[in-house]
Amino acid sequence: MKTHRFIGLVCILAFICPNLRAQQKIDPAIEKKVDALLKQMTLEEKVGQMAQVSIESLGSIKDKAFTFSDKMKDAVVNYKIGSILNTPGLQTAADWNRIITEIQNAAQQTKLKIPVLYGLDDIHGVSYVAGSTLFPQQIGQAATWNPELTYNAGVITAYECRAAGVPWTFSPVLDLGTNPVWPRIWEGYGEDPFLISQLGVQFIKGVQEPLGNKEKLIVSLKHYMAYSDPKSGHDRSDAWIPEHYLREYHLPAFAAAIKANARNVMVNSALINGIPTHINKHILTDILKNELGFTGFIVTDWQDIENVYRRDKMTKDVKEAIGLAINAGIDMSMIPYNYKEFCTDLIALVKEGKVTQARIDDAVRRILRVKYETGIFETPVTLLKDYPKFGSAEFQAAAYNTAAESITLLKNSNNTLPLKANAKVLVTGPNANSMRTLNGGWTYTWQGERTDEYAENYNTVLEALQKKLGNGNVVYEQGVAYKMQGKYFEDTVVNIDAAVQAAANVDYVLLCIGENSYTETPGNTNDLTLSDNQLALAGALIKTGKPVIFILNEGRPRIISKIEPGAAAVVDAFLPGNFGADALADILTGAVNPSGKLPITYPRHVNDLAGYIHKPSEGSGNPQGGENDPQYPFGFGLSYTGFSYSNLTINKNSFDAGETATISVTVANTGNREGKEVVQLFISDLVASLTPDVKRLRGFEKVDLKPGESKTVTFNILLKQLAFVGTDLKKHLEAGEFNIQVANQKQKFSVNNTVVF
Ligand code: BGC
Repeated sequence: MKTHRFIGLVCILAFICPNLRAQQKIDPAIEKKVDALLKQMTLEEKVGQMAQVSIESLGSIKDKAFTFSDKMKDAVVNYKIGSILNTPGLQTAADWNRIITEIQNAAQQTKLKIPVLYGLDDIHGVSYVAGSTLFPQQIGQAATWNPELTYNAGVITAYECRAAGVPWTFSPVLDLGTNPVWPRIWEGYGEDPFLISQLGVQFIKGVQEPLGNKEKLIVSLKHYMAYSDPKSGHDRSDAWIPEHYLREYHLPAFAAAIKANARNVMVNSALINGIPTHINKHILTDILKNELGFTGFIVTDWQDIENVYRRDKMTKDVKEAIGLAINAGIDMSMIPYNYKEFCTDLIALVKEGKVTQARIDDAVRRILRVKYETGIFETPVTLLKDYPKFGSAEFQAAAYNTAAESITLLKNSNNTLPLKANAKVLVTGPNANSMRTLNGGWTYTWQGERTDEYAENYNTVLEALQKKLGNGNVVYEQGVAYKMQGKYFEDTVVNIDAAVQAAANVDYVLLCIGENSYTETPGNTNDLTLSDNQLALAGALIKTGKPVIFILNEGRPRIISKIEPGAAAVVDAFLPGNFGADALADILTGAVNPSGKLPITYPRHVNDLAGYIHKPSEGSGNPQGGENDPQYPFGFGLSYTGFSYSNLTINKNSFDAGETATISVTVANTGNREGKEVVQLFISDLVASLTPDVKRLRGFEKVDLKPGESKTVTFNILLKQLAFVGTDLKKHLEAGEFNIQVANQKQKFSVNNTVVF
């Protein structure tokens, strides 16, 4: 009796006090509809909703057009499959309208007429729809440090995806980019939890809000969680991370996104501490659904229930793996081919009492809830004709602006850049004439290998410079080329001597180096160093004595320390997308002032990969520990103008733990041209009961300043945000001193009392 009363009291309190009830909102009108539908459903129909199948298995391409086979009706009508994903090759928006219409017509032939939820990997724009607007990859979007741009990228992605008739995107990626060897670091927003949270939440708002609108999609947060930090550095392998570090570094961006009402979550394809995340009930149910109050549904990643059996050797068959995963909290399985096996096995598991009917009902309730929220019950297909701005000049301008703010100037000896007027340049390197390398993976195809064919209307670096400087001022010698066979980033020497000879007649050498496109396991590497062939090309060109400007075009920071001292300037373009070369040409010639800042640490040595978030033992030249000696630090990036900082002030010197500190700083443009600067606030906890991080980003703001202009930027920091997660998994804000740092400005303050929460 007493217990009941207590629970009742907690419920009432939770209702009144939102802090106690972290649950995402649900709409009672939708819940009523879900209840009504659930009551009519058979077990077979429910299990069908939990299955997601890949489109390639449901038809084939004939004369460039995709045609469904009888398998589509088998999946949708007989097995009542709830969701389909992926692409049968690049399709136009009109093709997609036809494909989705055929699927939804099939769904109408079922007793309950529940529409199928289609999902696409819109990784940097709607990259499986021909003619869509492609943005820089997320790593480049992060280098802008401009949340407004990620918001716009979200708005445009959602609009163009709906033009194709698809209401669900498998983005954004919120993985923490701490391990530069990992082949998917470019798919995320960099290595800082705060930066990822800020940009990710804006993207989600752009894509999802208002939920149910015909220009909006539901997002999928990927890949929950700690996928990005495998011990081996290779994709889909085990990470060793204690829970207090999971909560301190990996969880915050997902928690912020759940707070922003993200409606779907995709699971980490790998393992944490020896447990495949797909069967980790603590991560999926205890933390995501119960603690964070996630009311949407969880989808697996590709074939990942099967992986528990085949790859991880944890069950005697697939069926047992299905039971573990569903009981852990998986709501939908991205099967992606063998839907009959999944449905049959899950039905049997329920009949055998190994999975409860209640668990199935919970999963289906979540899926149906989100289906109602997207509006696909009323409008199963949205059509291109209602989306006149698809691929418009307005959208392309947004992609160009994002690229222009992403490109990051890392070195500029003696103001080598911008190029002088009427400059003659040699453009060289394997990335010089490639749309594929500008875009990276997830572009038109999974690995991006057909981008040069599909993006021929856009400019490569060579073409953009020819247009900007005039053909007569641009000489091209490739020097080194990527191999079409073998590993995606292997390359071969074409003719280094020819490049050296061509350098004799120009004012500058623009050396375009980095990586070819890749993603996931094909992108695994055993050596982060730039390839030998590219190092040789760089070395030979540096010897000519001409100013060599490195253009880095790569998904992860390849080590360049052997050649970097010979570079007159270094520009990191990341993977800037279809308008990246135009933006780059404008930066090189000075039409645009660079304003990108690194969202990752650029390492100098292959065996010194600690990022900017590190412990005193890993840096600061500590003789009893490691050193941290990056090529370029996190947050770094130059401009063609100068900025100076002054007046770093804090409203008080000491605070109670519950208070908010107001910190302000003045930044001035001291040069002679307009420029954008990212003001970055770092705070350090000087002494703590868990060895503290040397510094952490706690605020940032990008400001635009005319020559001579200055602005004061103010940050309000809730002191509890400075707490760290202890080994007891609670947050600790401990009494003691803290340092504040903004550029060269420093201040101190103290916290008077310790709180644990
Ligand atoms: C990737 C996911 C992607 C999914 C669907 C997986 O292999 O890890 O990021 O969303 O495929 O294409």
